[in-house]
Amino acid sequence: MTNNFQMVEVVRLLRRHEKEMVATLRAFVECESPSADKAAVDRFGEMVAREWRRRDATVRVIRQREAGNHVRAEIVPAARGRVGQLLVLGHLDTVYPLGTLRTMPFRAAGGRAFGPGTFDMKGGLVLALFAVDALREAGLKPAKRLVFFWDSDEEIGSHSSRKLIEAEARRSDAVLVLEPSLGLRGDLKTQRKGVGTAEIIVRGRAAHAGIDPGAGVNAVHELALQIERLMKMNDPANGITVQATVLAGGSASNVVPAEARAQVDVRCARLADVVKVNRRLQSMRPILKGAKIEVRGGISRPPLERTAGVQKLFANAQKIAREMGIELREGSTGGGSDGNFTAALGVPTLDGLGVVGDGAHALNEHLVIGKMAERAALIAALFATL
Ligand SMILES: [Zn+2]
Repeated sequence: MTNNFQMVEVVRLLRRHEKEMVATLRAFVECESPSADKAAVDRFGEMVAREWRRRDATVRVIRQREAGNHVRAEIVPAARGRVGQLLVLGHLDTVYPLGTLRTMPFRAAGGRAFGPGTFDMKGGLVLALFAVDALREAGLKPAKRLVFFWDSDEEIGSHSSRKLIEAEARRSDAVLVLEPSLGLRGDLKTQRKGVGTAEIIVRGRAAHAGIDPGAGVNAVHELALQIERLMKMNDPANGITVQATVLAGGSASNVVPAEARAQVDVRCARLADVVKVNRRLQSMRPILKGAKIEVRGGISRPPLERTAGVQKLFANAQKIAREMGIELREGSTGGGSDGNFTAALGVPTLDGLGVVGDGAHALNEHLVIGKMAERAALIAALFATL
């Protein structure tokens, strides 16, 4: 750490802003932003954009026709010329439909802040703002150009933002992802599985189930046989998981089903397995005579692998945390984030730098208020030194 930037000081400075951080969080949470509701996500995006403009960032609202708008904010580095870029990722959207606040209002109690999106990941968006404030208060400028990219559709696959994120990552030396940390200890995420959904559609032939079953081809039976095969793809030792999750099929209790469908959750830990797993899904062939099978989708978010670059970034963060008297740990998760895209391009990516808490996507979603200052300090220090 630089001599004039003492970690303990920065944490102390940020603790003085704890109330403000919670107030900003509250405003963010109370502006609901479900992924699929463009008007709502845009409204929240504007709120976030305003906060960045107040901090003299160069803000661009990247308009989308159907998806919500993305927000890009840029902070100028200390030095001029070719200084490199640090990309900071987060998302504006939440999984909670409009009106969730009625049954799950924002509330602070027992040192925790509850509400939809507190943990995943409006808290992370708040940390970024106050990390930049802390730098300024400490009289420091970031070593590199800081680009904050907040997308509107992370929770539904980042379809409209992926290309923009990848383009931004290619210009960056490292990527910091402000998704929530792992567990209440605040572990960072140095490994994420690749994730995707496949859909298996089986077509058979309808017939009377009692009078003339031989004339039919039972699509549900075919699907059941396929699922049995599918489950054999599970290879936990190598980080591959395959689960049939949502099933539908048949039209009436006395009709041989003509159609059946399954949604399949597919994940893998290694980049090299993405093609292999997707190819196996695509090569499913009918078992029953006369049945037809169609497979859509597969792993769409590549895994975030714990490369040497990722390890180096983590070691850096760990060193900074030690200066605050905190032993930072790392972990892996089966869930994906936008960091998966940037890591797959070979850009060192450190994820889980957001808030500490629990209950993502659940009724008890919350963050630990007392940890906000130290998390923001960690982020500020990474901005100043990477
Ligand atoms: Zn998230």
